[in-house]
Amino acid sequence: MSQAYDDQNVFAKILRGEIPCNKVLETEHSFAFHDISQQAPVHVLVIPKGAYVSYDDFALNASEGEIVDFTRAIGAVCREMGVAPGNGGGGFRMISNAGEAGVQEVPHLHVHITGGRRLGRMLPKAD
Ligand code: AMP
Repeated sequence: MSQAYDDQNVFAKILRGEIPCNKVLETEHSFAFHDISQQAPVHVLVIPKGAYVSYDDFALNASEGEIVDFTRAIGAVCREMGVAPGNGGGGFRMISNAGEAGVQEVPHLHVHITGGRRLGRMLPKAD
């Protein structure tokens, strides 16, 4: 069974318009905004509008329409932010942290899109 969804998480509040964000893109089922603590020149979070805790929850429970919309929204953000390879874009990395070992801070599915500089090794040593 999936982890229970907490509708008081900060991204649920952003989706309800209760706290502000710096919006990048909105589609029928997805929403994207700049991360408040940029780790790279481009650092955007893409989230589904639906109440999903993590990617495994989304993959199991989301409709095909939501999954297609979310996947395409991620690609659209990469192109819009100028990091999609080709046409001058230098490339990007997408990360989705889940659960305790993944060090997920906000329990609403989000994909980090980072780019705009060389991003280095995929994983740091464990802390
Ligand atoms: P994580 O759950 O560890 O994958 O990361 C959560 C991300 O959410 C962090 O990179 C935070 O900087 C970001 N974050 C937290 N609160 C906000 C907010 N109000 N607006 C935008 N980004 C946020």
